[in-house]
Amino acid sequence: MVFIIKDVLIWGENIVTNNLYQMAYKLSAVMRKSAAIVDENNKFPEESLDLLKANNFMSLIIPREFGGGGYNVKIASDIAQILASGCLSTAMIWGMHCQQIYTIMNNVESEKKRILNEISQNQLYIASVTSEHTKGGYLLSSNSPLHWYNNSEFELYRLAPTVTGGEYADAYLITAKKSQESTDKNVLLLYAVRDEISITDIGDWHSMGMRGTQSVSMLIKGKLGAKNILTEEDFSGIAQTSLIPIGHIMWASCWLGATKEVFKKAIKILKKNKNKFNTLTYSRISSIRLKIDIVNNYLERLIDEFTMCMERNDRTSLESTSFNIQINNLKIIASENLFAAANETIELLGMYHGYIKNELIPLERLFRDLRSASLMYHNDRLKEANGKLSLYNSELLPFL
Ligand SMILES: Cc1cc2nc3c(=O)[nH]c(=O)nc-3n(C[C@H](O)[C@H](O)[C@H](O)COP(=O)(O)OP(=O)(O)OC[C@H]3O[C@@H](n4cnc5c(N)ncnc54)[C@H](O)[C@@H]3O)c2cc1C
Repeated sequence: MVFIIKDVLIWGENIVTNNLYQMAYKLSAVMRKSAAIVDENNKFPEESLDLLKANNFMSLIIPREFGGGGYNVKIASDIAQILASGCLSTAMIWGMHCQQIYTIMNNVESEKKRILNEISQNQLYIASVTSEHTKGGYLLSSNSPLHWYNNSEFELYRLAPTVTGGEYADAYLITAKKSQESTDKNVLLLYAVRDEISITDIGDWHSMGMRGTQSVSMLIKGKLGAKNILTEEDFSGIAQTSLIPIGHIMWASCWLGATKEVFKKAIKILKKNKNKFNTLTYSRISSIRLKIDIVNNYLERLIDEFTMCMERNDRTSLESTSFNIQINNLKIIASENLFAAANETIELLGMYHGYIKNELIPLERLFRDLRSASLMYHNDRLKEANGKLSLYNSELLPFL
């Protein structure tokens, strides 16, 4: 069953941000009702995605000239938080979709920009295919070569171990090695709609948390052409200036929104049992709040810096060692602090409201969901990268 919210937002009309936020809260409230069922039955939140599509949320950040809402990264981050307060899996599906859209928006060759019109018109959901069995989550290389028939047509044969919503996606953003002969670093970014490819060997996603994302394994095959290659630009530049920053911003926003919601619910539960308050209670609340605030403030600062660089087309700053370290830090800080905050909230509320599934607060689900955060592009990889980069970026004192 598809839930329809009567006052669907139509981009192009002069929607004030307030209305957009109100709508996001309405959608989130509907999603909240199915979040537990999705988790319990290990199923993709089809109704919630349909709800986002029916309300034009799949084109929220697409520029207005291509039929989208034209909203900026800060607003997308806020909306991701609001959606995650209802269902973290659905918000993550949407947040990753925004990651694909943003990458297309900022890197596609101009004559291929019609893709954006199609996404807006048909409210397509775009899944991400970057990880591989042989190289894990590492983004900047590929071991899956394209097999060229001639100068403009090739065969795609791509084993994809983890694709969020892969079975339900309308289109796919895929990384692949340019050819058998090229190096693993010669990565191309492909876009293919579902009709152009065949999807087989779909595996299971029996995970501890984020069960609604149904991040299944699959084999993607198809005869594609030059039109499917978004750009011939250097992929590491695309990753540094678009794919990684917007990814880390949207992931952190989703985890943060879900944690903020649980924090609010925890305080409400505690206030009902005020006689149980002691010094430790206040200290724990303070510690949880500190972790949430650290992530919130770091996220906002990075969004400001990222947005400013994009507005000025300042790719040099985005590719700098300093920005790379900080955007990696955003993902590390968010994944570690928010998981720790969920863990501390369990200590705070105890067994009944913390450890056991209950109607009042989805804390045990949040704990399981957030356990994936450090693995979703493994923090170990980011820490190794930041350690190496810091050897070249250790002048941290104010400049003269
Ligand atoms: C909820 C969720 C959704 C996802 N959705 C998608 C999706 O839509 N599309 C997609 O392509 N992928 C997706 N992924 C996959 C993700 O990007 C990673 O590929 C995946 O989490 C595998 O990571 P890994 O740590 O197991 O594997 P790897 O990254 O291969 O790491 C394996 C182990 O090796 C160690 N290791 C590896 N390299 C290094 C290094 N350089 N330095 C130090 N240690 C290292 C790590 O400690 C780790 O334990 C998703 C993952 C999650 C959790």
